Formats: sequence, structure tokens, C-alpha cells
Amino acid sequence: TPEDLLSPEETYRLDRQHVFHSWSAQGALKPMVITRAEGSYVWDGAGTRFLDLSSQLVNTNVGHQHPKVVAGIVEQAQRLCTIAPQHANAARSKAAQLIAEVAPEGLNTVFFTNGGADAIEHAVRMARLHTGKYKVLSQYRSYHGGTATAVNLTGDPRRWPNDYGSAGAVHFFGPFLYRSHFHATTEAEETERALAHLEQLIAFEGPGTIAAIVLETVPGTAGIMTPPPGYLAGVRELCDRHGIVYIADEVMAGFGRTGRWFAVEHFDVVPDLITFAKGVNSGYVPLGGVVISDAIAATFRDRPFPGGLTYSGHPLACAAAVATITAMHEEKIVENADRIGREVLGPGLRELAERHPVIGEVRGLGVFWALDLVLDRETKEPIAPYGGTSEAMAVLVAACKANGVLPFTNYHRLHVVPPCTVSDAEVREGLAALDAALSTLEAHLGA
Ligand code: PLP
Repeated sequence: TPEDLLSPEETYRLDRQHVFHSWSAQGALKPMVITRAEGSYVWDGAGTRFLDLSSQLVNTNVGHQHPKVVAGIVEQAQRLCTIAPQHANAARSKAAQLIAEVAPEGLNTVFFTNGGADAIEHAVRMARLHTGKYKVLSQYRSYHGGTATAVNLTGDPRRWPNDYGSAGAVHFFGPFLYRSHFHATTEAEETERALAHLEQLIAFEGPGTIAAIVLETVPGTAGIMTPPPGYLAGVRELCDRHGIVYIADEVMAGFGRTGRWFAVEHFDVVPDLITFAKGVNSGYVPLGGVVISDAIAATFRDRPFPGGLTYSGHPLACAAAVATITAMHEEKIVENADRIGREVLGPGLRELAERHPVIGEVRGLGVFWALDLVLDRETKEPIAPYGGTSEAMAVLVAACKANGVLPFTNYHRLHVVPPCTVSDAEVREGLAALDAALSTLEAHLGA
């Protein structure tokens, strides 16, 4: 393999010479060379081990190099590497069945894509054709992907330089009590006011123009804001009342991340379409898709669906999904994520907040947690601006790495998102490293 041929130094040199990276000015990049990964750990070119509290881009839900998933891919590669989407194939059929089995009642059909962004593109296309309407509502503080429609629906600054007209996207504020847009002081107030805001937005945009509302069940990259009780049920009711398709984006929250197969299970709501990717096969081979309600599937029974991809339902990716979902069932990996969140990681992070005033709020569930970092708990002033970064955040990231953990950070937040397979001992190791890194951050801020 290339790993055998290239030294870490040569890997780095060729990267800087020939590789163009995502979302970055290329000049200043210093990518970490990763040579090996196993379970919750990765190793850099110097042989230093890091606990992966990022799950890469929050996708390695069964950890790195899970032997059953590696074997599933190898066996499929030996049998049949690729086949066009118009044929039927066992890996694809089985993956679709396993996904439908864990999806809510009434969602039984799967359209496979290459990742999350194109899952959103196709879900929106289905919703528009199903309803005959065009606009799509989505939240500020959201991420839906880097392709045309998905980035327009995204409610974060990555949309700004990519916005050449709205593509029918209209944004609204979701519930977020800690930084309430509605001046609410209780969860009940936040739910009521956020729903009133959405209802009014629908009335003013024209319910007859709105094809879909797309929202992350628990917004991920934007800050892991678990919706308060009643909010998603209220969204479902508004969609029903106005003939709007409810698309739940579970690309990040799905497949065990929140301690459930799909995060909507926490809230007792059934969306019309669910987009997934990442955790479905832990990202070992690119895969995403849309789980489709029976009603929307029926729209395309006699009418062609005008969309497709050469690699829709790619056998290697689907074999990885079959092995991942099977391992998750056999090893009770979703249950582990749930228990870790309730018994170890959640309490451990709250305990850190008691000792570190820089933590303004701890929020999350399962293995899906965010620390909202502030200069002052009263004013809640973040330690980096919205859409930007700061020296303090750079100090924090460096301190995390110096203490042996890979963090996931966004603006002023540190996300703690280990694999769903993480053990109690690994969580405790991670918490100790974060404790030390937060002390370094506080020493820097005090200076
Ligand atoms: N939707 C959500 C909620 C995501 O978190 C992401 C990626 O982080 C996407 C969509 C886009 O997925 P991809 O990067 O696979 O295109």
C-alpha cells in the first residue's frame, strides 16, 4: 500500500505539493500525517498516539478498523467491487433492508448516495416533486453539506461565499435556550416561541410555496443543541397542517451518535424523509442516502424519479454498512453510546464545568457533546467570534493534542464526540486530558 511506500515526511511533502484541502486557504495548512488507527485511537507520523475525541468528522461510530467491517469490505472486494445502480446486488439489498429495519415505522425505502450533501440534494428534489412546491426552510445554526442546494440550506458562514441566490432556501431560528433568540428563560417558553416564530415565517412566506422543512434533529457542527420537549412534534404538526415535507437530516446524529439508531426516536416524531451518511458505515467507504416514507415512495411508483448517481448503492460501501449495522446490533454499540452519555461522559463533562469557569454550558447526549466556551459566564461572551477563531481556541487545540487527544472544535466550542464504541476507561482518559487542556486555556486567558 502507499503506507508501505511513503515515509511520513514524504507523505507530508507530497500532500503540500499536490493535495488541495477542504474549506481552507491552502498556504497555511499543516495537516497531521496519520499512519495508523485502531478503535478510539490514531497515530501520527512520529508514532504518537491520540485518543480520537472527534471520530474524525463525527463519523467513525464503530471506531477505527473494526475487524468485522474491514472483513466485510475485503470479502465484498474479492467477490464484486462495483456494479451499476440499475442492477440488483446483495450488498445493496441487505443494506437497504437493515436501514429500513432501524428507521421509524412507515419509512421503508432507501435511495443511496455518495455522502451527506447529495443525500440532502436528493431529499429536497423528492420533496419538491412530491409537493409540486419549491421553497425549503432550514435553520440558522445548521450544516447540510457543501454542494449547491445543501450549502444554500446550510445556516452557517460557509454558505456566505457560496450563495449565488437562495435556491429557494429560507432560514429561521431554531430553539437554543442558552443563547435564546426569543428571550426565553425556560425550555417550555423556548419551544412555544420558536414554534410561533416558525409558524409566522410559514404564513409570511406562503404555505403554498413551501416544499419542505429540513432540520438536523440535533444540530451537530452548529453546536449540539438538543431541541426542547415538544419542539419537533410542533414542527411535525406545522408540516402536516400545510402539506410540507419534514426532512430530518441525521447525517451526523444518526446511527448511534445520540444513543439511538436515529435521533428522532428521542422525540417521538416520524419525519417524511431522513438523510443519513457518516455513521451508517462509519465512513470506511463513502456512503449516504435518504430513507423515504411510503407516501413519497408512492409518488415515484409510476412517475420517474429524475435523479441518480453512478455509485448509488456501491457494493463496497453497502457491504461496509451491512457489517457496521450488524456489528452495532451484535455488540450493542448503540446501547453503549447511550449508557456512556448518561453515566460517564455527561457527568464527567458537567464535573469539569464545576471546576472550569471557561465552560459556559455543557450540552449533549449519547456520545454527542459540546462545551460552549465563554470569557464570562454572566455575559456568555464566546472565546471566539461567530464564524471565526481566536488565539484562545488555537491554544486550546494545541493543549488537547499535547495531552494526547484529537478534539473537534468549531468557533468557540469544543465538541466531545468519540466513537460509539468508546470504553469507560477511554472516556476517563479523555476527560483527564481535557481537564489539563482547559487549565492551559484558562491560564492563557488569565494572562
Ligand atoms: N448534514 C449534516 C448534518 C452534516 O453534519 C454533514 C457533514 O458534516 C452533511 C450533511 C454533509 O455530509 P457530507 O460531508 O458527507 O457531504
